[in-house]
Amino acid sequence: MPVLTHIEQLATCPPENPQSDAGLISDAAIAWTGDTIRWVGRRNQLPAEFNDETQIDGKGRLVIPGLIDCHTHLCFGGWRGDEFDLRISGASYQEIAAAGGGIASTVSATRAAEAESLLDKAGDALDRMLSLGVTSVECKSGYGLDEVNELKQLSVYQQLDSIHVIDLFPTFLGAHIVPPEYSSDRDRYIRLICEKLIPVIANQGLARFCDVFVEQGAYTVDEGRQILMAASEHGLQLKVHADQLSDGGGALLAAEVGAVSAEHLEYISAEGIEALSKSGTVAVSLPLASLYLAEPYLPARKLLDAGIAVAVATDFNPGSAPSYHLPLALTLACLNQRMTPQEALNGATTVAARAVSAQHRIGSLTPGFRADLAIINAPSLNQWLYHFVPNACTGVIKNGEWVVNMHDA
Ligand SMILES: [Zn+2]
Repeated sequence: MPVLTHIEQLATCPPENPQSDAGLISDAAIAWTGDTIRWVGRRNQLPAEFNDETQIDGKGRLVIPGLIDCHTHLCFGGWRGDEFDLRISGASYQEIAAAGGGIASTVSATRAAEAESLLDKAGDALDRMLSLGVTSVECKSGYGLDEVNELKQLSVYQQLDSIHVIDLFPTFLGAHIVPPEYSSDRDRYIRLICEKLIPVIANQGLARFCDVFVEQGAYTVDEGRQILMAASEHGLQLKVHADQLSDGGGALLAAEVGAVSAEHLEYISAEGIEALSKSGTVAVSLPLASLYLAEPYLPARKLLDAGIAVAVATDFNPGSAPSYHLPLALTLACLNQRMTPQEALNGATTVAARAVSAQHRIGSLTPGFRADLAIINAPSLNQWLYHFVPNACTGVIKNGEWVVNMHDA
């Protein structure tokens, strides 16, 4: 039974705490057996039974739960570096999309890519995320937008989940945009999603969640409702890309259908906030997308004050958030969403676990939870999120085993 001791600050992130309280323990130790945590507390209170166990020196560092990135578009073909220049020169996200760029160009590149190359590329991103302390990742389809290619993306996730140490939570996002070949008959594509793709994906266990992008240029509230209802009938849990570029009623829809999460919400209305506070839906904030699009940030204080749990994720994708750096997203959440470091960390651990319906097993360092933890070369949570460095993580333990160990370097 390994014991990690001499921890300057341990963030336990218990699910029952308010989001403002990350359960910080100073001068701490943590013990686990196999993949499960057995004991956490102050080092000088370590029970005698643990004294003879293998002790790992925490070297006075910060230890946090393995981070959970609860919103990514991990698998995609190509990049969109050429649009970066256009956007900086003043073209809007919607203008670029109308000119054939944006999501549609990634759809072409993803359709053209072999599954094997998509797997290599996504696996490489996962390796890098792991090195930052990320141990669980939600990942969406939505760049295939036809039967063959949506299933190709989801199969890549299934394979990656079996070979990569990071745990994946796949989401079917067939309703990302309407594919160009259906632009004059969008109902036909929605029927394909509802009558063919959702049943196949649910039967094969290729996704746990179904997500819909409700936005001008994507799907209407009524279309979103139709798709989410079909997904729910097949046992998928629901997510909504809501109110990202305008107040399009997405948050209201998420509350109405009992979605586990509503994601983006940069333009959420007062009615949307009230509805989410009643439905218990987690709000997923994506500060890297706001940074890259020069759009407003999610008004986190209003949501937190209304009792809504606010997760923080990267939105890693080739257009609006081409970065998987979750610690950077946390620092941005502090600076631009006015979340405290403890609120931000809970947002990428126990609250993020709620957004993937896994809050009883991951995202917290308390007895009975999975031994997924990251060692951060900083003496405290405040110091880590304030003093941004490329990578402060020096060690990752996943399912009780070292998977990244630069702790002695
Ligand atoms: Zn997204």
